[in-house]
Amino acid sequence: MDKTEQEREGWRKKAREVAQRVVAPRAAEIDAKGEFPWDIADVFGQSGFLSLFIPREYGGEDADVTSFCIVVEEISYYCVSSALLIIAHTVGLMPIVLGEARELKEKVLRRVVGERALLCFCLTEPEAGSDAASIRTKATLQGDHYLLNGRKCFITNGGISDFYTVFAVTDPDKRLEGISGFVVEKGTPGLSIGKKEEKMGIRGSNTTEVVLEDVRVPVAQRIGDEGVGWWLMMRTLNRSRPAIGALALGLARGALDYVIRFGQERGWPGGKGDVQDVQLMLADMAIEIEAARALVYRAATMMDEKAKGIPVQMYSAMSKYFASDVAMEVTTNAVQILGWEGLVQSHPVERMMRDAKVIQIFEGTNQIQRMVVAHSLLKSKA
Ligand SMILES: Cc1cc2nc3c(=O)[nH]c(=O)nc-3n(C[C@H](O)[C@H](O)[C@H](O)COP(=O)(O)OP(=O)(O)OC[C@H]3O[C@@H](n4cnc5c(N)ncnc54)[C@H](O)[C@@H]3O)c2cc1C
Repeated sequence: MDKTEQEREGWRKKAREVAQRVVAPRAAEIDAKGEFPWDIADVFGQSGFLSLFIPREYGGEDADVTSFCIVVEEISYYCVSSALLIIAHTVGLMPIVLGEARELKEKVLRRVVGERALLCFCLTEPEAGSDAASIRTKATLQGDHYLLNGRKCFITNGGISDFYTVFAVTDPDKRLEGISGFVVEKGTPGLSIGKKEEKMGIRGSNTTEVVLEDVRVPVAQRIGDEGVGWWLMMRTLNRSRPAIGALALGLARGALDYVIRFGQERGWPGGKGDVQDVQLMLADMAIEIEAARALVYRAATMMDEKAKGIPVQMYSAMSKYFASDVAMEVTTNAVQILGWEGLVQSHPVERMMRDAKVIQIFEGTNQIQRMVVAHSLLKSKA
């Protein structure tokens, strides 16, 4: 095993241990109460899961995308809400890491490492979901600061973050090149938390509106130059979509293993283990999971190897789309195989199926992922 592989296996071991010891016992409760797991976030901070992409010079872990996916997959095996906490935080952090604003990095990255500050990524608006380029939140330059005005919705970690990475329009005439990123600190006057969403799945994840009313943000808290926001966002999503694939992969694996354990320990209801239809379903579930694994880690490896000429955004989109459809299929079949027992809360497959549905929608719906794939294909030389 080379050094990189050793480091990745180290992350797997650590994440699996934390998942079994801290996350698994809380998963059902977090879902039932719909509450953010502060205790788990704290352990994630101690374990380095919140500073995976922060460079060593700021005290972070300097981990790669593959390690990120491994950590997410191991946690999501037991609890998608807990794993999503890491992704949403990392997605909020990534534009700052990728950007050039040194003073901002000092301010934010050091607080993540030292104080376990949490972040979120504020892009979606009531009129701009899939069509993210239509955001209306406005940033108006006034001397040494900007005034931010707008309303973001469905923001993961929205109600619990210390820093908000906000995308806003600095020049409406330039469309994509008129979008810029800003960091807004919790407690800044004019920043408030709106409605908390009561979702059907991933209920332990905090999802809220974020309202910006004349929020004064110093120019030094702009992430990079004016107009590079869209580009930073795309580079961030290329890295996070494989992790959303890993989120779905861990979930699907958890559901299949649960069904198999259930049958082995309790006996298949009505002797179903001997029924060929059920066996075929189990086989399909396992095959789909392995196919999803291959795609997720291929996309992650491509990001890590920074291979020139490879359309990473295409593989990134493929991995999110395919793995989340697999998770939906596998969890639905897990419920089906358990019969009525699959529908009640005493078995996690009920929660897992609700969680899978949500993954097909966020971070770009699965229709949008296929459009990204198609655009990449049409742009490439056959
Ligand atoms: C639990 C959860 C957490 C989220 N967290 C965040 C977050 O942290 N930060 C953030 O910024 N956003 C977040 N979002 C928002 C998420 O990214 C959007 O929900 C998503 O991009 C889809 O937008 P929409 O819901 O407005 O759907 P719409 O864009 O209104 O789409 C509705 C339907 O139409 C389809 N559709 C739309 N346009 C097209 C098209 N051109 N071609 C084909 N089909 C199309 C879609 O696929 C979908 O099926 C979150 C959402 C959820 C559910």
